[in-house]
Amino acid sequence: MNIFNFFRRSDTKCPRCLGKRFVDWDDIRRLNRQLKWVPAPCAYCDATGRVPKELLSKVAVDCMYLTIDLPESVIEKIKEGDLETIEKGKQRELFVDHLIQYAEHHYLTQNLDAESIANLYLEFEAEKAPFAVTKEELIKYIQGVIELKKSALS
Ligand SMILES: [Zn+2]
Repeated sequence: MNIFNFFRRSDTKCPRCLGKRFVDWDDIRRLNRQLKWVPAPCAYCDATGRVPKELLSKVAVDCMYLTIDLPESVIEKIKEGDLETIEKGKQRELFVDHLIQYAEHHYLTQNLDAESIANLYLEFEAEKAPFAVTKEELIKYIQGVIELKKSALS
């Protein structure tokens, strides 16, 4: 037996990936993060399937910003509850929410395609936005927003 087992903190099955260590489309739909995440190893449990119980009260399971593509130092800061990092994450989520609303609005009211909406965005919105995106990324993203809207309406 391993003596270090005595010192293991009490942990629980990861509520984000349900212990699979990987966040798939089912998890993404369950947590309503369709336009915000893609399937990837779970950042909430660091792809271990288990999390310390105290994490649940510190970081929301659907915290959009906490994804595996962040540098490890940033992931640590989120999990420690670092205010500045969490604020930055909130800004990022607001930015993405705005982008989604913008794309949905122009799709639904004017039936524009992804490229036209991207052009409008770059012309009128990009300058005041807190984060920069390339036209290519934008078109791809808006296409995703439109697809999801279409499937929700059908
Ligand atoms: Zn997990």
